[in-house]
Amino acid sequence: MSRKILFEDIDEPGLNTLSVYERRGGYQSLRKALGMSRAEVLDQIKQSGIRGRGGAGFRMGLKVSFLPEGTMAKYLVCNADESEPGTFKDRELMQKSPHMLIEGIAISAYAGGIDRAFIFIRGEYQHQAEILDAAIAEARAAGYIGERILGSDFSFSLVLHRGAGAYICGEETGLLDALEGKRGNPRLKPPFPAIEGLYAGPTLINNVETLSTVPHIIRMGAAEYASIGTETSTGTKLISISGDVKRPGNYEIELGIPSREIIYGLAGGPPSGLPVKFWFPGGSSSPVLTGEDLDLAYDFDTLAKAGSMLGSGAIIVADESRRVLDTMLKLVKFYAHESCGKCVPCREGTNWTHKMVQRIFAGEATPMDLDIMGSVQEQIMGNCLCVLGDAMAMPVSSMIRKFRPELEADIEAARERAAARDLAAAAELRPLAETESLAVH
Ligand code: SF4
Repeated sequence: MSRKILFEDIDEPGLNTLSVYERRGGYQSLRKALGMSRAEVLDQIKQSGIRGRGGAGFRMGLKVSFLPEGTMAKYLVCNADESEPGTFKDRELMQKSPHMLIEGIAISAYAGGIDRAFIFIRGEYQHQAEILDAAIAEARAAGYIGERILGSDFSFSLVLHRGAGAYICGEETGLLDALEGKRGNPRLKPPFPAIEGLYAGPTLINNVETLSTVPHIIRMGAAEYASIGTETSTGTKLISISGDVKRPGNYEIELGIPSREIIYGLAGGPPSGLPVKFWFPGGSSSPVLTGEDLDLAYDFDTLAKAGSMLGSGAIIVADESRRVLDTMLKLVKFYAHESCGKCVPCREGTNWTHKMVQRIFAGEATPMDLDIMGSVQEQIMGNCLCVLGDAMAMPVSSMIRKFRPELEADIEAARERAAARDLAAAAELRPLAETESLAVH
């Protein structure tokens, strides 16, 4: 059911220190990689088939190979912003095994011919930033970061940068702007970061989990890593599971296992004993699936075929006691607040949708508002500068599509409550009006 690679030693006391990490075989993969040519290391990453663990699922090997050859300054940026609601696996990785990430960054930088690397960590992760800072200092003192690493020709620097707490800085180009000291606004693409990224130089951007996997690929060999999981979703994946489950937390699974095994087998299912009503398979921006989808294999392609996505690997579960409308309100409020406002479909669309959901609660909406809301989501999808607009539109659309009768019933109930309130208010005002009318005459 669960297969541990990244989490194999995760609860080893003191793993965040260099001595314990080295005792468990740490930095041996870097040693092995530096004994290989850059092309061989890149080939191992490619052959492993690893896809980005941050959300988009893009093949890492391909991303590295997009970097141009040449002597220009090239950068590696580790996206440690982890701001997708429901996602907290990178936090555990950085807190408990920071050297695994540093080793992964060093190997990936070597494969990409990169000599400057940054970790952009979200502002709220102060504790993890302190741990990483200490680990970077230890790694530098031991010669794993710096000039001529382990006696090779490879040199690289690593800087930890703390964000200021904005969801949009998890978007790779917004992150690059923030790292350059500007407001974190997404950039128009192309050019893609591999060609023109940080300080206009070629830049490789990968997430914490993806980079932390690289030492294991080198240690195991690409063929063995690729034999785990499915043909197109190789390896293992860290899952953050929350919501209505008995055992929320982070788990490592082999990609391709049935989703039911994660939600019920590992996390114990809803504590209420009620059936699962809906669940987000890949963070709050993934279209919702229902209790009927629990036997879907948990991998990139199966979830995409089912109309959703694996995303960041954050599963959020809601049992039958939950109202879809309540979740929708939280969701749209969050995305309306986090929209950077740079492009119209997202800036206006997220705020309009928030107002329309508030209209339902106020008893001012009719079922026709659901059609308007659905059409607003269609105008947003595919028309924004970055993925934030879609991140709201996709789950909202899926909720309207899959739970329309429930939403219509909520609209009706809210209208009745509002009408009853109006009547009660009118009744309270009547004696006053009569008194006033007597006073006038
Ligand atoms: Fe900003 Fe939203 Fe446009 Fe992204 S989609 S650039 S967050 S306004």
